[in-house]
Amino acid sequence: MAIRNIITVPHPTLRRKARPVTHFDNELQTLIDDMVDTMRVAPGVGLAAPQVDVSLRVIVVEYGDDEDENVPPRLYMMVNPEITRFSRETEIGTEGCLSIPGLLGDVERSTSITVKGQNRHGQPVKLKLRGWVARIFQHEIDHLNGVLFTDKALEVFKPTEIAEQSTAAD
Ligand code: ZN
Repeated sequence: MAIRNIITVPHPTLRRKARPVTHFDNELQTLIDDMVDTMRVAPGVGLAAPQVDVSLRVIVVEYGDDEDENVPPRLYMMVNPEITRFSRETEIGTEGCLSIPGLLGDVERSTSITVKGQNRHGQPVKLKLRGWVARIFQHEIDHLNGVLFTDKALEVFKPTEIAEQSTAAD
């Protein structure tokens, strides 16, 4: 188990388009294992390889269920993921990013998506996702294209402002 350093803005790797994975070798297996460990320790619900300064198209996501907190989190590890269908229906949700500490933003995303890619051994995988996990995948796959949530956010704010907002709303 190895925890890798998570890079933060304005590190240039975060703005590069990551390369497709072509070799499903030991180095890739180590990268994926390290990414899972790093995500868990952070802690976060998703991590893309560029965030650990590796410009390859690899993401890991670990998330349970929007409605039922008793459902154990499911771990997804995806190589060369590509969103092949975005629902027309969208939803605004508040996102943060391990590479952009201290900022949150409201981002409009599709409520459901279809993702095609490969598993860690190179076999094809296809997932249909909806709700928050679909949002996480969209956020992580943006990282592979050098896109950050702050590029898409309708509004960006500091976490304290949320506390004030919710107090005001209460
Ligand atoms: Zn992020």
